[in-house]
Amino acid sequence: MSARGLLILGATGTIGRNTLDVVHRHPERFDLIGLTANQDVDAMLVLCEQYRPRIAAMADPDAAQRLRERLRSSGLDIEVIGGAHSLVDLAADGSSDLVMSGIVGAAGLLPTLAAVEAGKQVLVANKEPLVMAGRLLLQAARRSDARILPVDSEHNAIFQCLPSDFRCGTAPQGVRRIILTASGGPFRETAIEELAEVTPAQAVRHPNWVMGQKISVDSATMMNKGLELIEARWLFDLPGADIDVVIHPQSAIHSLVEYQDGSMLAQMGHSDMRIPIAHALAWPDRIDCGLRGLNLAELGSLQFEAADLGRYPCLALARQALEAGEACCNVLNAANEVAVEAFLCGELRYLDIAPLLEQCLEAVGSEQQHAIHSIEEIVGLDQWARARARELMPEIANA
Ligand code: NAD
Ligand code: MG
Repeated sequence: MSARGLLILGATGTIGRNTLDVVHRHPERFDLIGLTANQDVDAMLVLCEQYRPRIAAMADPDAAQRLRERLRSSGLDIEVIGGAHSLVDLAADGSSDLVMSGIVGAAGLLPTLAAVEAGKQVLVANKEPLVMAGRLLLQAARRSDARILPVDSEHNAIFQCLPSDFRCGTAPQGVRRIILTASGGPFRETAIEELAEVTPAQAVRHPNWVMGQKISVDSATMMNKGLELIEARWLFDLPGADIDVVIHPQSAIHSLVEYQDGSMLAQMGHSDMRIPIAHALAWPDRIDCGLRGLNLAELGSLQFEAADLGRYPCLALARQALEAGEACCNVLNAANEVAVEAFLCGELRYLDIAPLLEQCLEAVGSEQQHAIHSIEEIVGLDQWARARARELMPEIANA
């Protein structure tokens, strides 16, 4: 077997590090071409020393310069490129044919699209680009013959429960509905009155998964499940009405597919991203990622409950946005990035997040609500929504 050239977008993040952990167990399968990050030079230097990629790219050009100097003084011969565009170029060029899309937020859109347009096998953890541009990404994949493989644990679980010839972006045969499981996050049992006081430190303390800060806050509000609903709509070409959500606090079942005959297939495993990452990296083969299956007797029982939309208004907003169309999904995603960032730095309270998103959605004009056909339109909407969210924030924060 010849090793496949791999590029990891967002290498310094949780997805990036878990990917490296799986990859270093299988040096015969993967040739590490490139690692990318935003601006954390210290973290990138450590990864370069440990994993020796051929190229390191930093979205921030000053960080790239600093990394270049640090690598030179450690005697490592690794090419460094810099600037947001260098990530796009690297994702598009012929040096890799396997790309892990692990950047957080809208920043991953252009590099992910470039990898898809180049016809690569693209492992998508970075869900926000699918929320923003699902239609365009899957159309591009059809044109270039790129293979999109879902890494988000729920979507990866569904993919694993679908027939082996299923291709993302097409409608699966014989499926009645899919069911996304959600842990309910750290505040599933917190009294609603106490939610007004929750801090960023409490919000990022997820009961089952270790993740980056943004997705951890999204898991607390359940906006994460809302984004995943929209992600699933594009990956599995299903209407929102055929995508359900259920709370399952143990996170042992990662999602389910219900077929027309009433059969329900589920994928189970530890809550560890190395499992879906290994699945997508080796697909259609299976490789060891360092984990065993669950000990079912020890697990004992599994719980399921409906999501209370009073506790999780962001989930209801995401469903509304999905029904309203692509412009609203874009606005929701952008406003949520602004809201989460503001919450993390203490400028917005936890309970202000949903009202801010709701007001941004209400501000979407009827002339903006149509199917989206270009990346320029998406970038325009994204900027519009961010500006709107920042404009509305002081009033909501001071209310
Ligand atoms: P993280 O915050 O741990 O890492 C983010 C990575 O993106 C870092 O490498 C960072 O350098 C890079 N980055 C951030 N801003 C950038 C920019 N402007 N330009 C270029 N690079 C930038 O995030 P994470 O938890 O690894 O999540 C990454 C993505 O995967 C998110 O979209 C998240 O929703 C999704 N995801 C994560 C998990 C998980 O368990 N962590 C599970 C499912 C899906
Ligand atoms: Mg998920």
